[in-house]
Amino acid sequence: MIYAQVKGGQKLHLAYEAGEGRDDQHLIKAGYISDPICGRPAPEGYRMTINLPLANACKRCLRVYAARMVAND
Ligand SMILES: [Zn+2]
Repeated sequence: MIYAQVKGGQKLHLAYEAGEGRDDQHLIKAGYISDPICGRPAPEGYRMTINLPLANACKRCLRVYAARMVAND
């Protein structure tokens, strides 16, 4: 997972990096990053991506992330 910002000043969304995905049928290709997992579109890509988890992340993304981690156990 990676934190990504669509527009300056907005919250960071969580997205899948290459080789990751919701399941085996939805893996991200090399060199790509998924749309935010909360469903917000990122039609022009991201302004920046950050590996460090920050407290300022989108709450909907965090909720989706937590739910998927539970589902995968
Ligand atoms: Zn989000």
